[in-house]
Amino acid sequence: GESAEIAEPRTYSLEKGEELRFEVENESVQCQLIEGKAELFGTELRLEQKYTFQKGAKVAVFTFHGCKLKLYGTPEVEYVASETPMTIYLNLGNSLEGLREAACKEDKHGPNVLVAGPTDVGKTTFCRILLNYAVRNDRIPIYVDLDLGQGSLTIPGNIGAVVIEKPADVEDSFQITAPVVFHYGHLTQSKNTSLYNIIMKSLAEVVDRKKHNEPSIKYSGTIVNTSGWVQAYGYQSILQAIEHFAINVVLVLDQERLYSELVRDLKSKPAIKVLLVPKSGGVVSRSREFRSEMRDQKIRSYFYGTTAKPLYPYSFDIPFAQFTAYKIGSPNLPDSCLPIGMKSTDNSTKLMPIQPSSSILNHIFSISCSSSEQDLDKVITTNIYGFIAVTQVNVDRQVATYKCYSVSMLPDERQNLEKGGKIIMPPS
Ligand code: ADP
Ligand code: MG
Repeated sequence: GESAEIAEPRTYSLEKGEELRFEVENESVQCQLIEGKAELFGTELRLEQKYTFQKGAKVAVFTFHGCKLKLYGTPEVEYVASETPMTIYLNLGNSLEGLREAACKEDKHGPNVLVAGPTDVGKTTFCRILLNYAVRNDRIPIYVDLDLGQGSLTIPGNIGAVVIEKPADVEDSFQITAPVVFHYGHLTQSKNTSLYNIIMKSLAEVVDRKKHNEPSIKYSGTIVNTSGWVQAYGYQSILQAIEHFAINVVLVLDQERLYSELVRDLKSKPAIKVLLVPKSGGVVSRSREFRSEMRDQKIRSYFYGTTAKPLYPYSFDIPFAQFTAYKIGSPNLPDSCLPIGMKSTDNSTKLMPIQPSSSILNHIFSISCSSSEQDLDKVITTNIYGFIAVTQVNVDRQVATYKCYSVSMLPDERQNLEKGGKIIMPPS
């Protein structure tokens, strides 16, 4: 029949500075470098190796030298583009490398870079490229991801940082090992601005300690990725991030308005360079549905891994008496509900204990690393071990069953829970 046609493999000859772009809609697509040199978002392709791209992948294979590629399968879109900003990205990468060399010589901090821009301009891809170029120069930069919705480090609703020591996988981007993650619990910064600012600051402190302990991380610097919300508090939080992470290079993708606002607001700090960087014409807009599906997939792969690297989560019961679960924040009373002259207190970062009940079913909890039983305020400024999903609640037996992530974090998580550890509840 007509429906099950299998496309013949195609060979593409790319000139210097061209890229082959494709988007995988259904069946996986394979790409192979058969001659010359090429890279995918800054990671060099191995000659002859067939790389497989799964549903949802939107990628470009770029060549600085010219190459021959072979494509197998039927992507939704496939075309060669000769206009790309890759030379500009490479030059930026080289300038950053110059700053790292200088930092190394003078025992100073390497460049702390923040990448900003509206949604779908290629911020995450650009960070990936810059990190790859740094690693290819034998640097070990820190990658901070402040994006709650489409973050690259862990499941949605959290922010974190990780040391990048190896180039990204061609197929699955960076292998994230031992990230430092802070719990937020919402998908947009506006939901709890006090909390967002506090955890950004705490994350920045951890990053600073890492640099203090390991000079080569300090010289390598930081790349901070941000969310695409660049107005109102979204914009304010970019300014706050610039301060917390001691940013000295701000790279604004695509949007002139954001660029000029940042230039204006950072004028008093001449040490901070703000540059406008063009976006790639290959960047693909993603629909609301696609984003939400990506978030679900992030959660699924946290617990179950990927086809290439599956994980096997298991379930265990914890009696209600053995843990405390909290929610961060309770609604502030409007001043109009209070006696005249009284102001309501800010409860948005207070830990509120919650009674285990069927309401926690199918929720994901963060396990706090905080060990202080007395000082609950410390919990939000402490990073988390990982996540568990509540799969059953038995009110009669007073136990809850959790599905747990099955790799190295587990013993700690579990010990922490058995010691009566804290669990932080995401919002419903
Ligand atoms: P942002 O972080 O600004 O929202 P992303 O970096 O996530 O944007 O890019 C959006 C989508 O576009 C991603 O799926 C990414 O893989 C894809 N993309 C980025 N650059 C290119 C390119 N040059 N060719 C094809 N697809 C690209
Ligand atoms: Mg992004």
